[in-house]
Amino acid sequence: MFWNEKIETLKGKDLEQLQLKRLKWTLSQVRHVGFYQQQLREGGIGADDIRTLDDVRKLPFTRKQDLRDGYPFGFIAVPLSQVVRIHTTSGTTGKPTVVGYTRRDLEAWAELIARNLTMVGLKEGDVFQNMVNYGMFTGGLGFHYGAEKVGLTVIPSATGNTRRQIEMIQDFGVTAIHCTPSYAMHLAEVAEEIGAELSTLRTGLFGAEPWSDAMRGELERRLGVTAYDSYGLSELFGPGVAFECPERDGLHIWHDSYLVEIIDPSTGEVLGPGERGELVVTPLVKEAMPLLRYRTGDITMLLPDECPCGRAQKIARITGRSDDMLVIRGINVFPSQIEHVLLGIPEVGNQFMVYVDRVNHLDEMTIEVEINRAHFSGEIADLARIQKKVVKELRDTLELRTTVKLVEPGSLPRFEGKAKRVIDRREGV
Ligand SMILES: [Zn+2]
Repeated sequence: MFWNEKIETLKGKDLEQLQLKRLKWTLSQVRHVGFYQQQLREGGIGADDIRTLDDVRKLPFTRKQDLRDGYPFGFIAVPLSQVVRIHTTSGTTGKPTVVGYTRRDLEAWAELIARNLTMVGLKEGDVFQNMVNYGMFTGGLGFHYGAEKVGLTVIPSATGNTRRQIEMIQDFGVTAIHCTPSYAMHLAEVAEEIGAELSTLRTGLFGAEPWSDAMRGELERRLGVTAYDSYGLSELFGPGVAFECPERDGLHIWHDSYLVEIIDPSTGEVLGPGERGELVVTPLVKEAMPLLRYRTGDITMLLPDECPCGRAQKIARITGRSDDMLVIRGINVFPSQIEHVLLGIPEVGNQFMVYVDRVNHLDEMTIEVEINRAHFSGEIADLARIQKKVVKELRDTLELRTTVKLVEPGSLPRFEGKAKRVIDRREGV
């Protein structure tokens, strides 16, 4: 099903023409931003320099730090009186980033979400529980307005009070949910604990943090849903940048609104299809906060253009953020890899924490994971067996020796929003 078939299936010359026209518009829009005025002047880049889409490579990158330096309104390209909403990013690693929206931006954003929901078969008659933060986080209001646009019955339940969430799913006959994959796992856990059936659920939309295919299998089995991956970030409106279609083999980027490149994160060199690197996005329709070549920090690759659903341009599921990537004794490790390994071991649960320390100049990684009582005899010898198994499986995948600590079921933190599973205690890292 399509929300906007003409645009969603646009390909070839027609698509290129539209993208080029919008890229030129974006270049004119960023000229209202001091940061870009200076960058373009220093680079000697004028409007005439953009003749083809490849010319985007002449434009400067924008980094998250640039946006922070512009706090609060340095990147707003319209008079503040035309900004009808403000969100901020979480600011977990410094000052938050402010993002602004004009009325037209909000309409464009809702349209992208409407396409996502329609693409996975949601329509009038579906009851949609939006279990994410409705505050400054873009996931709440972003999905909310898109879902209303499609005509779903929207329950703005936000996060927290998991038992109440379960009651609402049952009482209102909820057919689709949206939350982080970590919270979905917690929801499944609590539902099982209290013996609650979630028989009306069919669709799960999960995003805001990277999650593995093993996690998908687990969530589908335990919640009885088909699970779809949702990708976005606040700097690019919020959710709705890319989304899985029913094929669930990569995420379609809404190519009329976002021009994408994949680069080598260390050299900035542009990579080809099938080469994994950092996703760089130039939004094509953002009015209040236009950006050039925004470095998302997310690691992915471009997939072949053909998809049975008829849409084009796909990216692979995000492996991790370049900021989340841990370098342990020179080896790159993403928390999603650890999750994938642990989900494959029935003797342990799905919750884990990672601690990184430097001991005698060597990186040491300790992973805490909960034991699964159903697969544990209670004997000390069995504990040793399970521990050895987890260490071996992690070593086979990560090519790293780790310390594994088995802990009581239910003793590790649960996360309602984005999970924070890694605690890096090394100095100067
Ligand atoms: Zn598709």
